[in-house]
Amino acid sequence: MDLAKVTVERLIEAARRAQAQAYAPYSSFAVGAAVLGADGRVFLGCNVENSSFGLTVCAERNAVAATLVAGTRPAAVAVVVNGKTVAPCGACRQVLAEFDPGMPVVLASATHDSHEVMSLDALLPGAFHFEKP
Ligand SMILES: [Zn+2]
Repeated sequence: MDLAKVTVERLIEAARRAQAQAYAPYSSFAVGAAVLGADGRVFLGCNVENSSFGLTVCAERNAVAATLVAGTRPAAVAVVVNGKTVAPCGACRQVLAEFDPGMPVVLASATHDSHEVMSLDALLPGAFHFEKP
């Protein structure tokens, strides 16, 4: 799926708004994510840290949950951080692959005017896919 330039810009702007809500008192690494739903709506997620570090949940997975709760499915995602762009962590890549292994992933910075668009299958080759025996 190729994303139109206007769609990429819309997702980055939404992810920047989500990043502003991040709860990251321990790492100060605020992450915002915006998922484009299959129906065209956009859903936000931010990282939510916890003093029990293992309970921290990433922005991408929170945005996926918001997408599903709204009754649609993820079709693309944008991730925004401060400074140099970062790709979703391995866990989030697997969660996103559940819905579309070739999903477009927009990597953007809140502090630099640059971004790149990657395909999820380039970020997670050989994603796990359960098939009933
Ligand atoms: Zn993650």
